[in-house]
Amino acid sequence: MAGPTTPTTPQLFDMGGKVAVVTGGGRGIGEGIAHSLAEAGASIVVAARRTDEIEKVAADIVAAGGQATAVATDVTDSDALEALAQSAVDTYGRLDTWVNNAGGSPARMKLDKLPREEWDNTISLNLTAVYVASVTAARKMETGSIINISSGAGFGAIPKSAHYGAAKAGVHSLTYSLAAELAPRVRVNCVAPGAIPTEIMMQALDLDEESVEGLVDAWQIPMGRLGTPQDIGAACLYFASDASSWVTGQVIQVSGAPSRR
Ligand code: NAD
Repeated sequence: MAGPTTPTTPQLFDMGGKVAVVTGGGRGIGEGIAHSLAEAGASIVVAARRTDEIEKVAADIVAAGGQATAVATDVTDSDALEALAQSAVDTYGRLDTWVNNAGGSPARMKLDKLPREEWDNTISLNLTAVYVASVTAARKMETGSIINISSGAGFGAIPKSAHYGAAKAGVHSLTYSLAAELAPRVRVNCVAPGAIPTEIMMQALDLDEESVEGLVDAWQIPMGRLGTPQDIGAACLYFASDASSWVTGQVIQVSGAPSRR
């Protein structure tokens, strides 16, 4: 029960006065995360490579009454990550939340056919960038929350996407270790999405609008539907806000299904 010093539940989820960076925020899941955090009151720095996409997301947030800026960033460039973190502090005076969402790999092939370059690029984007960004962000935060976006592919065997699965499994390990190293100042958690029909997912699985709905039956998704960017945004809001102030080093699967291990 709420007392004079105990926050109410809406206060726990309130992001008013907080500043969040969302990488890969120009479309898909990152766009959904940016909107969820903005609707809860956070000022958002939307970051990705494509200026047209991030400027549109920032403009949509501002048009809805929120605060947002767009900063063109390639997350595989360490200097660009440093500049991104600094621009959040320069623009809004602080940094509270950092969402490592940029990622993916459209390549679907067995490891013995996978070009070495594709392996290196996948690890660089999905794992190394998460490590560099997290360390960079934590240095700029007084206290805060880092949220990694992994994938169901980070659990078990993923034939023809082993490179991607290995990178995302690495993100889980990084989440546990960084959470231990950065506590109690900065919390580190991870959201592992299931199937969300975004551009990268449709491309990776060679799907069109018609065939994508068949996945619910083909993959026997117990909750009977595919996911949405907002499903992931809501989980990120929990990890970003004081509602999860006693939670760190966790990986939550938001997938319409029981946990895979
Ligand atoms: P998407 O392709 O729709 O969006 C990816 C975003 O990342 C884009 O804004 C893109 O510009 C950005 N990006 C890519 N490379 C970048 C780079 N080097 N620097 C900066 N930005 C870069 O993909 P999505 O489906 O929204 O995926 C977002 C995250 O969710 C990824 O980490 C992906 O692995 C993960 N994921 C997606 C699904 C799914 O079903 N869609 C499932 C599990 C996990």
